[in-house]
Amino acid sequence: MAMRSYSGLALDDDILDRIMTFCPTFGTLQSTVLVSKSFYRIFQTHPKSITRAVAYNIVGPALPQALRVIQYPYPAHHAADTLDALRMATECPEDHAPSVITADEKAMLQGNSKVVAALEDIYSLTNKDRTSKTSVLTPEESWRFRRAMYRLMLYCNLFPPDRHERHEIDDLEDTAIEKIFAQRTAVLNVYPTDELVQLYAVAKFMRGLLEGLSGGDPRTVDIFQSLGPARALYGWQERHIGVLVDDISDELFDNDDDIALFSGYFATPFKNLWETRKIPPLKDEEPLSKWILDQVNGANDTCSQCASPGGLQLFTDANWHRFPIILPNLLKSNLKANPLVTQPFFAATRHIAGSDALGPWISGLWAFRQTEFHGWDVGDSYCSPCLLKFLEEHVWRWFLDHQLAAGWTPPEDCWYGWNCRTQTHSLHHQQTRNHLCVPTK
Ligand SMILES: [Zn+2]
Ligand SMILES: [Zn+2]
Repeated sequence: MAMRSYSGLALDDDILDRIMTFCPTFGTLQSTVLVSKSFYRIFQTHPKSITRAVAYNIVGPALPQALRVIQYPYPAHHAADTLDALRMATECPEDHAPSVITADEKAMLQGNSKVVAALEDIYSLTNKDRTSKTSVLTPEESWRFRRAMYRLMLYCNLFPPDRHERHEIDDLEDTAIEKIFAQRTAVLNVYPTDELVQLYAVAKFMRGLLEGLSGGDPRTVDIFQSLGPARALYGWQERHIGVLVDDISDELFDNDDDIALFSGYFATPFKNLWETRKIPPLKDEEPLSKWILDQVNGANDTCSQCASPGGLQLFTDANWHRFPIILPNLLKSNLKANPLVTQPFFAATRHIAGSDALGPWISGLWAFRQTEFHGWDVGDSYCSPCLLKFLEEHVWRWFLDHQLAAGWTPPEDCWYGWNCRTQTHSLHHQQTRNHLCVPTK
């Protein structure tokens, strides 16, 4: 029997419909639709439901929240101030019948889902399991996290930092600011209390990302967090809040006063809602992750060397790319103050500092492990002091190897090695003796 061609595919319509709903991306759906007339015909009869099914494959159960972010009819900046708070809160609700998803919306949906997935990876690494760079949240935990993150996106889109020019902010009457805070409170008020608490936990997580960056002081973080989750992710990836400065008008940083419009950007609406719903305010010292996570892995783990407790704060292969260190400080003893060591060291580690390359570099130091570190394995977890101790013993050895591999011919070893004090002030001594060696005196 001759093979049937695709165009004569003898499958019934329901099966063709089902096949299309399994497409993992909009791109594969489009290819499938174009592959045969039968697929094309079925797609034309149910475009909305098939597209929505594929959107679900991309976004998961937080699809209603993800769709609201991209389909919300955001008011023009100047119209927003006078918009009725309740109307703003109830516009384009999360639960509505499948609608057409335009090409632009598909691109936004895929882009936002990447942001949310990347933030979930960070959340998982810092709140759920320090040993995995990719999220190990359960489906239920992931749903809570993503639903909240999309709602956070919506909130930040509705109240962006560029809604007003600085002089307009300065001219805003107290009543106008109150009205904007009433809008913010109303937008959050549509969510049930348990999901509101999850939203609060995720907002605090996003704020924590920004506060952990260099330059992230509380006043400016109030403004930076209004840029929304995608920019917070970018700041975290780039490890400096400075990369976000261009997103915000310089005028907002003109003076040191709190700007009433941004101070309490999230905190005030949440406080209002805890009051009206008669919920005791959440304590910041409690781990807020308990509202998102059913279980934390390794919460009671201890340092493999000194047994001090650490849990999620311990360092291991998956998270030492974020180990907070200034690399030249890892040079042992007086090597730190020998410019003939520090300058080439700085050049040799420039690509590692403040980059994800730090992780593999630290792992690679185990190739230089000294006998007294027998039992310190690359796969173990370490508290910060123990990891620093390991690094200080091995970074200079790595550097010596690096220099020799680059063709450096060292002068005669100084008897005092890395401990030598003369290397800190005598250029002649720096030039005529090697200090990347163990003291023999
Ligand atoms: Zn330790
Ligand atoms: Zn010396």
